[in-house]
Amino acid sequence: MPWDELSENKRFLDSEKGFPAKKYGDLSVALIYPGSYSAGMSSLGFQLIHRYLNLHNNIRCERAFSHPSGGCSLETGSGLSEFDVLSFSLSFEPQYFEVVKILESAKIPLLSKDRTDKDPLITAGGICVSMNPGPLSEIIDVFWIGDFENNGYAVYEEVLNSKGGKRRDILSALSGIEGCFVPSVDPDKKCAPRIADISALGSLCSCIVSSKAQFNMWLVEVSRGCGWNCRFCLVRWLCGSGRFRPKEHIIQDAVEGAKKGRKIGLLGPSVLDHPDIGEIMECLVKERACFSISSARADRLNPRILELLVKGGVKQITVAPETSDPETRARLNKNFGDDIFFEKLKECRQAGIESAKLYFMFGFPFGGGIDLLPDFVGKASGIINVSAGFAAFVPKPHTPLQWCGMRSRRELARIREEASGMLRKSKCNNFSFEDIRLSVIQGALSRSGKEASKFIKKGRISVQDAETLALREYGPDEKLPWDNIVTPYAEKLLSDEKEKALRPE
Ligand code: SF4
Repeated sequence: MPWDELSENKRFLDSEKGFPAKKYGDLSVALIYPGSYSAGMSSLGFQLIHRYLNLHNNIRCERAFSHPSGGCSLETGSGLSEFDVLSFSLSFEPQYFEVVKILESAKIPLLSKDRTDKDPLITAGGICVSMNPGPLSEIIDVFWIGDFENNGYAVYEEVLNSKGGKRRDILSALSGIEGCFVPSVDPDKKCAPRIADISALGSLCSCIVSSKAQFNMWLVEVSRGCGWNCRFCLVRWLCGSGRFRPKEHIIQDAVEGAKKGRKIGLLGPSVLDHPDIGEIMECLVKERACFSISSARADRLNPRILELLVKGGVKQITVAPETSDPETRARLNKNFGDDIFFEKLKECRQAGIESAKLYFMFGFPFGGGIDLLPDFVGKASGIINVSAGFAAFVPKPHTPLQWCGMRSRRELARIREEASGMLRKSKCNNFSFEDIRLSVIQGALSRSGKEASKFIKKGRISVQDAETLALREYGPDEKLPWDNIVTPYAEKLLSDEKEKALRPE
C-alpha cells in the first residue's frame, strides 16, 4: 500500500477509541462498508458484525471502506485479495455500484463464476440483500439472509474447515446452511430471513467511537422489527414484529457509554414501543447522560417521555407523519389522525423541545394529494419550529404494496414542484426533497432481479433504465424476483392489505 494511503489510514485509526485490532486468527475476513468511513462507523450494524466476528477465536476481522483505502484494509493496509473472505455489509441499494468499484480496485474477478480457488470468497448481508439478493446474484458468492447473530458463524466455520479445498465444494456446503443463499449452487433455494433472539444476545452497542464518524455517539440497540402494521414498511414485513432487548442490557450498554462521557443514541425502528423505555431513560437521566432517540412515532410521545428526553438534552424531535392527508395516512395504515399529531407537537413544545423534523413521502401508487400540505405544515409551524423532509415513495418487496410500480420521474417532479410552490407560498422555507433520481435508482435495484445486474456490472445505470425497472408493476399471479425470500406472511394477507390500501371502504 502506498505510503500516503498508509498514513491516511493511521489518521483514521488514531481517531478511534475502543475495540483493539485483533492480530491473530486462522481465517482472515475483511468486513467492507461500501461507502465512507464516516458513514460506515456510524452504522451500529456494521460495528456489531465487526465485533461479533472478532469474538470468534479463529477469525481475524479487519475493516475496509470505499474511503479511505478502497482496495485495502484499514487496520493493516493489506490488499483485499489477500483475505480468505470479503464480507460486504449493505444497507442501501446504490451501494451495489460501490461493491463493483471495490472488487475492481482489489483486482478480484467481478463475477462469481470467474473466481478461482485462489480468490477470496465474497459474501454479503444487510437489509437490502436480505429483502432481494437478485440484482447482485452474479457478483456475490454467498448471501446471508436476515440477522447475522443467528448462526452467522456457521459460514466462516465452514470456510475455515474447508480451507485449501475446492471453491465449488465450499460453495455447495455453504448452500446447505440455513440462512445462506448461494445462487451459483441453488438459485431457487427458499430462504427465510434469520431472526435473532436479541434478548439472549449480550452487549449490542458501539464498540468503537471515532471523531471521524458521522454520528460521534455511543449507539445502543433497543429493538428490532416493529409491531405496527404500516403497509409500506420493509422493517415490519421483513424483520417481523417488535423484539425488545431486556432493559437491564440496554441500561448496562448505555451507562458504559455515559461513563466514557459519550452522548448515547438509542436505536431501533420504534424505540418508544419498548415497554420499559421510561425506566431506561430515567436511569440515563440519573447518570446525567446526554441521549437521543432515532425517531419517534408521534402517537407514542407523552409528557413523561418528553420531559425525560429534554432532561437528556434532546432539543429536536424527528417524527414521520408520512403524509399531510389523513385519508392517505389511513391507507398506509399509519393510523393516527391530525388531531393527535398536533396535540403531540404541542406536548413537545410544552416540554421544552425546540423544533420538530417532519418526514413525508410523496408519489403513492393510489395518488394521495398534497393539497393539505400547506395547512398541515402551517399548523405545525404555528406550534413549534418545523423543518420538513420529503422522499419519493418506493414500494418495497415483501410489503403489501410490493406489486405496485413507482410513479414516473415526471410525475414525481411535478408533485415536488407543486409541493415546493405551496410551501413557499405559505412561508415555510425550511424543507428539502431527496434527489428523485436517487429514489428511482433505489426503486430499480430493490424492485428487480437479475435483469438489474447488467447495469451493476457496468458500475452505473442511466436514470431512463432505472425508471423502466422501478415503474414495473407485477401482476397478482406473477413470479416476483424476490420470491425465494420467504417471510412468515402469506401472500393472501399481503394482497388483502394491498386491497385495503388501494381500495379502502
Ligand atoms: S411504526 Fe415505523 S417502523 Fe413500525 S411499521 Fe410503522 S413505519 Fe415501520
